[in-house]
Amino acid sequence: MRIKQHSLIFVAMAAGAGIGLWLGGADGVKGSHWFVDTCEFLGKDIFIGALKMIVAPLILFSILAGVVSLPTRGELWQIGWRTLVFYFVTTSIAVGIGLMLVLAIAPGERGSRTEIRAKWKETRAEIVSEFEAKEKKVQGAKSRGAGETMRDNVKRIIQNPFKALSTANSLGIIFFAILLGVAIIVIGEPGRAVVPVIEAINAAIMEMTRWLMAGAPLFIFCLIVALISRYGTAVFSSVAWYVVTVIGGIAIHICVLLAICAVVGKKSPLAFLRGIRKAWAVAFATRSSAATLPVTMTAVQEELGVSKRVSEFVLPLGATINMDGTALYEGVAIIFLIQLFGGMEGAMIELNATTTIVIFLTAVLASIGAAAVPDAGLVTMVLVANAVGLSEQYIVMVFAVDAFLDMFRTSTNIMGDSVGAVVIDRMMDRKAAA
Ligand code: ASP
Repeated sequence: MRIKQHSLIFVAMAAGAGIGLWLGGADGVKGSHWFVDTCEFLGKDIFIGALKMIVAPLILFSILAGVVSLPTRGELWQIGWRTLVFYFVTTSIAVGIGLMLVLAIAPGERGSRTEIRAKWKETRAEIVSEFEAKEKKVQGAKSRGAGETMRDNVKRIIQNPFKALSTANSLGIIFFAILLGVAIIVIGEPGRAVVPVIEAINAAIMEMTRWLMAGAPLFIFCLIVALISRYGTAVFSSVAWYVVTVIGGIAIHICVLLAICAVVGKKSPLAFLRGIRKAWAVAFATRSSAATLPVTMTAVQEELGVSKRVSEFVLPLGATINMDGTALYEGVAIIFLIQLFGGMEGAMIELNATTTIVIFLTAVLASIGAAAVPDAGLVTMVLVANAVGLSEQYIVMVFAVDAFLDMFRTSTNIMGDSVGAVVIDRMMDRKAAA
């Protein structure tokens, strides 16, 4: 009997987790280890490297193909505003779920709170040295105020398209692709000549994705071994309730997404999950929604039957700005830290309605601004912390389990984008039939 590839992927994930746990033990593999190093090479350098190679041209050509294939320019607007509203609403729901859960469970007030507070200084010094690289990233984000962040974003959107492509700056690529696509339509006859070329290149890029996915079970196995073995189980002891809250919130949000998919998108939850399982697994293992985009695109078009004109536009935009899992996680993390350290120096914050609303709004914004790469959510979380006056030094506390939670939030992020594609496609069909 031939084993289906998606079954193999899930077996590979389980085997990777098992071997990773066995190799890592309580403290995790430190330094070099031939098997873990080989897994890192195959998973990170080869698989994620190849996905990244595909992703920038894919965003350019898929958006171009999407725009030039729209029957009218008005349709771009119709799809565009629906997509933005959908993304904004679902991200807000995600943060809402996270906040309700963290307030109800109160992970920061459970377990060894008194001990952690007492030992904070010592613990922090230890963790900071271990995660220095990430800390540097966080400091970089901290020094930017709201005005500067706004200008940075404008600079990212309006820039040399070749620079945007070479740095995989999706906002810059998307903006240029939409403008170029509209210009191709506007110039009429000469523009029509390049449409088949754009469509052919787009199809060829998707074909490259299929080639790469042939090795997915092995690559995903390697990525999971590499991550889990470096971890060690000990890091979970002081933040176990926090981890449970984030994963619980994500599970509830997935149910909400599936319900929206069933009611508005008219697609059964089972059919949806079956359709995106490969993309989900790749997002889980790579921790990057951008790197997963080629796989999400193939899954949504080929398995879920979403039209190209909708998916080619909705998915690249979603991978860039729609991050339900990240938004949920940021809200939960900040409230957890306030529960845990509230009242200490740099954390003189009262958890009231105003603070909660500020966290809600900034978590939505921070998730929109987060890049679709590993650990990005941790960096933009500084924005949320600063908004309520929580010193960013406390964020170090959740560093230890961040990469682990990144797997859950990234796979939820791509699920949110895919539900968006199903729902918008359905809406556009209904509009066309009306
Ligand atoms: N890794 C996430 C993504 O690519 C972003 C995050 O760190 O939350 O979607």
